[in-house]
Amino acid sequence: MVRTKLALLLVLLHAAFGSSYRWFNWQFEVTCESDAYIAPHNEAAVAKFLKEQYPKGSHIKVVGNGHGFGNLSTCVDNSLTEKPSYIVSMTNLKGLNIDKKNMTVTFGAGWDVYDLTEELKANDLSFGNLGVERVQNFVGAASTGTHGSGSVIGNIASQIIGLRVLDAQGNLRVINETNNPEELKAFRISLGALGLITEMTIKVQPTLLLKKTTKVVNATSDYTQMGKQLAQLYKDHDRVTVWGPHFDWNEASQNWDLEPTYFYSYWEPTNYTGVRNCTLDYCANGCGDCKREYICYDEVIDAASCPPQGVCDREFYAEIEHFLPIEFYAEAAADYISYQQSQTPRMQAPYNNMMVIQHRSLKGDDAYMSPVNTYNLGSDLSGVFAIIEIDWIQTYNNFTTLWQNQELGYEFMAKFGEKYNVRPHWNKMNPPNATYALEKFPKLPEFLAIQQRQDPKCQFVNEFLVEQLGITRCANYLSI
Ligand SMILES: Cc1cc2nc3c(=O)[nH]c(=O)nc-3n(C[C@H](O)[C@H](O)[C@H](O)COP(=O)(O)OP(=O)(O)OC[C@H]3O[C@@H](n4cnc5c(N)ncnc54)[C@H](O)[C@@H]3O)c2cc1C
Repeated sequence: MVRTKLALLLVLLHAAFGSSYRWFNWQFEVTCESDAYIAPHNEAAVAKFLKEQYPKGSHIKVVGNGHGFGNLSTCVDNSLTEKPSYIVSMTNLKGLNIDKKNMTVTFGAGWDVYDLTEELKANDLSFGNLGVERVQNFVGAASTGTHGSGSVIGNIASQIIGLRVLDAQGNLRVINETNNPEELKAFRISLGALGLITEMTIKVQPTLLLKKTTKVVNATSDYTQMGKQLAQLYKDHDRVTVWGPHFDWNEASQNWDLEPTYFYSYWEPTNYTGVRNCTLDYCANGCGDCKREYICYDEVIDAASCPPQGVCDREFYAEIEHFLPIEFYAEAAADYISYQQSQTPRMQAPYNNMMVIQHRSLKGDDAYMSPVNTYNLGSDLSGVFAIIEIDWIQTYNNFTTLWQNQELGYEFMAKFGEKYNVRPHWNKMNPPNATYALEKFPKLPEFLAIQQRQDPKCQFVNEFLVEQLGITRCANYLSI
């Protein structure tokens, strides 16, 4: 009886005040108020929902796990619009079909990277490339071009050979390498702008064992010299990540102190048959004693990326990540550090802790919106990209410090974008600039034509997408 009364009360409260759902990203600084969180149970239910919303022109933001540093997953806040606004998650779409004959895996858009990789490992299969962590939803990760490190390997999205996607009217489109290979280049990295992906098929490979070697190097404040050493490492190894240099905030001098050493890891194939031990020795996000020389062996998934138990630090941090042709690596690496140092006097907010520079490389590709697309590269460039990341990590989750560091981070694009043909990670503090985007993504007009077909009433866009991609027909998306 008490339960019935409570349920009735909730229904009445809902009717009187409406319901709402507040969305947050992983570190709670990207947020918006939607009318509801929708998690349909199957593709037909997603299509039905979209068909119902189309006449109303409802705003629809499809999300993965919100593991980004930018505004891609921000919904249209319901304080700004008369129309309904929804956060939609595919988390319940968990179909899975492993085809060992063709070495492909087809899975529902609800699969997270970690769960999918565990499933693959159990079937003696593997991925070519993963990010440092595995906490993302797979489709969410692919949709922004998530990657690891390797001059001979592409990003996660380059493994996609087919997908199923629903447009704003709930119509299904099946895109794959055989029937519409050109269109697949638009959908591999679709930024949530081309519809709700319900299923993906990716290429997989047999279990691949790697040897991971970690070396410690002396840091130098001669950044030109450091840049040259760094560029050489990428010539010496196909697959390497440099964690460093590291800096610690000095409260007294209000400056960054350069740590005397930093480290790098490189991976190479092995026929080792002993115990697989990289999972016993994680070193990510501040876990463990990282600055020491060691060797471990494991399946590529565990050798190159970190499961949730390897992540032990979740303080706020601001982060930029820029992709540029590898030929510019030595000069750019030095320039980025020098420019950061010129910003330090403006870092007045409290709670700074560490600053870590991370360097990686990645093979270019032909996905329309890939940060490593090769469409505008001259013939003198190899098509391999260098990746420079700067993390400003705090001691305490203080918004003032986070916003200050983000503002400073945005300045790197204006400073170095043109100079080094830089493309920022889509989900890591990418300052909107449609003119620049068109120059770096020559296939943007083709992408926008598909966007218009998939989303005629601008239901899938938000302020970031409109400004970033220059979707002029959606400029008034709040009132369309
Ligand atoms: C601590 C940390 C470490 C990271 N490390 C790396 C790294 O090593 N390498 C790297 O490249 N990146 C890295 N990232 C970035 C991260 O991989 C990307 O931001 C990724 O896109 C996040 O995935 P998600 O599932 O959380 O997606 P979300 O942020 O929720 O969404 C990303 C995009 O995908 C779209 N989307 C989601 N699901 C669907 C769907 N079903 N259909 C259509 N569109 C969809 C969304 O609309 C949005 O545009 C890191 C991020 C953090 C916070």
